[in-house]
Amino acid sequence: MEDDAPPRTGTGVPGTSVRFRCGHGAPVDEARITLQRQCPLCMLLAETRRTRDQLLHRVAPAGRAALAVETRIGADYEWICVRGHSRYSASVREVLTGPGCPKCRRNAQAPAARFEGGVPFMKPGLRLGTSQTEQRLRVMLAERIRLPHRVNAIKISRTFFGKPEVWPDIIIPGLMVAIEYDDPGRDGMSHRGLKETSDREKDAALNEVGWEVIRLRANGLHELGPYSIVCPALSSGVVDRIMELLMQIRGVEAVDRLRIRPEDGPDSREG
Ligand SMILES: [Zn+2]
Ligand SMILES: [Zn+2]
Repeated sequence: MEDDAPPRTGTGVPGTSVRFRCGHGAPVDEARITLQRQCPLCMLLAETRRTRDQLLHRVAPAGRAALAVETRIGADYEWICVRGHSRYSASVREVLTGPGCPKCRRNAQAPAARFEGGVPFMKPGLRLGTSQTEQRLRVMLAERIRLPHRVNAIKISRTFFGKPEVWPDIIIPGLMVAIEYDDPGRDGMSHRGLKETSDREKDAALNEVGWEVIRLRANGLHELGPYSIVCPALSSGVVDRIMELLMQIRGVEAVDRLRIRPEDGPDSREG
């Protein structure tokens, strides 16, 4: 690193002493504290399902060495636009969660993108990691109301992790309500910290295009958003509560139109 380069926290500069489980931060012999979690940058990479290698391919060559050991998501670098526009300066966070260079950003905000906001659609090949609980929730809910199987994404009027759409766990187009099942996971860390921030951003993006979000907050997670159901685990009582919230959000009549009645055969479930 040149003498006039700005000091980079956590990359071995004297005076910084935090080391992370991922190996980034202060060198072993200088670390006063070793945190048993990944550095913020590695956490955001994991959340956005990217690798550091992929990020390194997008930075201008002069920044590559520093970015290889960077821990801060707010650090600014010079980047090469993946769509071939001009180089641009932005923080790691903006690059990982935003639409790209300033020109890409303007394109994402174009009237065409705004016009489609709120439209649900099928994105093929998405959501490989649907959990068993999410599937069980879908089955339990499908016993009460008609759920379409042909949509898994909703167009938004901004970008979320660089995409003009979000992929909620369950989508009810007839009510414009999305349902998310949040569980802290085996490591107890999912849906906390940065994930909570991105959950809030996802809700805001959906609210902007007219959708409401019901969040099941299981296994110790606290409320998030106006329609949270805090519960130890998924149960039929939780599904009762979802039905109540749907009626509260869109009215009894709107929910009744989707309701499955005993006289309906299984054939009439497709929405
Ligand atoms: Zn790291
Ligand atoms: Zn661009």
